[in-house]
Amino acid sequence: MKFPGGCYCKKIRYEIELEDADKARTSLCHCKNCKKFTGGPFGVTSKIPKSSYTVTQGKEKITEHEMDNGAGTLLHREFCNECGSPLLEYGANAGDFIYIFYGTLDKPTDLPPKGEFFCSKRDNWMPEIPNIFHKQKIQE
Ligand SMILES: [Zn+2]
Ligand SMILES: [Zn+2]
Repeated sequence: MKFPGGCYCKKIRYEIELEDADKARTSLCHCKNCKKFTGGPFGVTSKIPKSSYTVTQGKEKITEHEMDNGAGTLLHREFCNECGSPLLEYGANAGDFIYIFYGTLDKPTDLPPKGEFFCSKRDNWMPEIPNIFHKQKIQE
């Protein structure tokens, strides 16, 4: 199955090829880092194998940014240098996986969330999403 997506200004386009939607793991993250980078109350990303992701258009518009996440892990992020859309991120310990920013998918609801991370940092006005896993931090 193919899951196409791209940035807001449409200069960058990508395609994810997976056996089925279950091969992706979408999750919300309430950590401060995700709030800052996305400008929202939480980040939503879909974890997919690196090999399933191909940029089909606009490679030259991709800016890469790397910074310590505050806990000693180097976090790599890519975004569009024209419109600023975040595209993907992965930590130095992510292995062969990358995390696609959910809203950049053309049809995000094809890959619905399976869990929430850093619930200890959840904004107090936001209720828990039912019937998915909940972790207070990344690892428990
Ligand atoms: Zn763009
Ligand atoms: Zn986070």
